[in-house]
Amino acid sequence: MRVHHLNCGCMCPIGGALFDGFSRGLTACLVCHCLLVETEQGLVLIDTGFGQRDIKAPLSRLSPFFMNLNRIQFEQKYTALAQIEQLGFKANDVRHIVLTHLDFDHAGGLEDFPEATVHVMLSEIEAARERRGFIASGRYRPSQWDEIKQWKYYTNAGEPWFGFEAVRDLDGLPPEILLIPLAGHTRGHAGIAIDTPSGWLLHAGDAYFYRDEMGTSKPRCTPGLRAYQWLMEVDREARLYNQERLRALSLNHSSDVQLFCSHDAIEFQTFADKNNSQLQPSKQ
Ligand SMILES: [Zn+2]
Repeated sequence: MRVHHLNCGCMCPIGGALFDGFSRGLTACLVCHCLLVETEQGLVLIDTGFGQRDIKAPLSRLSPFFMNLNRIQFEQKYTALAQIEQLGFKANDVRHIVLTHLDFDHAGGLEDFPEATVHVMLSEIEAARERRGFIASGRYRPSQWDEIKQWKYYTNAGEPWFGFEAVRDLDGLPPEILLIPLAGHTRGHAGIAIDTPSGWLLHAGDAYFYRDEMGTSKPRCTPGLRAYQWLMEVDREARLYNQERLRALSLNHSSDVQLFCSHDAIEFQTFADKNNSQLQPSKQ
């Protein structure tokens, strides 16, 4: 098993460091942290960022409200498909896509992979189909996924994983890939845990947004990202509870599990650098 960290979308909201904590100018830099996993069952993509069709016709796919608020950068080079081809694979090599949730900045690339089965929590697809209210109809964009033929839905299975309840044995996927329900940001939001040769990775999706929310007993978040998390939450109690549990995991099991969220650019860079150095042939 080999894991690649891909940034499948850039968003540059006005606010600079008030969002990302490091930009010097007026605009911030947020990424869409996705994973490409090479397995014996073919390629598995974890989240998809923005896809080729989002780039070609953004207005037919995305909500103008979120396009402007997040200042989404539509560039072909960020799509998962472009990066997967760069690695020497084809679209049809991607056999499975596991989603943290169905927000527009996670589901945009789904239709670029026609052979892939899409795995998601049942409660998430239900929320996405209901699309109740202004935020829900802006965040869930059926045009991004209405051509998907193969879906697999999951309910909470309750298998233990570091104090969380996991869904194990996802249909057709290797046993090393688990769904960890983490509701709050959306109704069926989940983290995705992967047992890699160098330990567990947990893609926490949008369960938190800022690196300093984890790995410390004194969490800190920028005002911009705190406001965005508040705007997008569907269940505050569940969101804060799950964030607290993730924080405890990051403190108590830092040698067993490495976790990261979707949109923190510095966190992404740390993983991408580490990953690239592991993939380099050793110089001896
Ligand atoms: Zn997101």
